[in-house]
Amino acid sequence: MFRGPPKSRASATTLCQKCLKRGHYSYECQVSAQQRPYKPRPSRTQQLLNPDLKPKLTTEVPNDLIRR
Ligand SMILES: [Zn+2]
Repeated sequence: MFRGPPKSRASATTLCQKCLKRGHYSYECQVSAQQRPYKPRPSRTQQLLNPDLKPKLTTEVPNDLIRR
């Protein structure tokens, strides 16, 4: 199943935490800082100032639970 020599121990499903691409670990990431998709988490202060940033509580039940 292997194609070519293994470059690293990372598998095809290994998710890089830096660029959010698969196939390598974050410490092996070759992308520059500019290429990284930066997803800032809203801080507690920002949540207080902007309620829209709060994680919404959902009352929806997944269909999987209903059909069982
Ligand atoms: Zn990466």
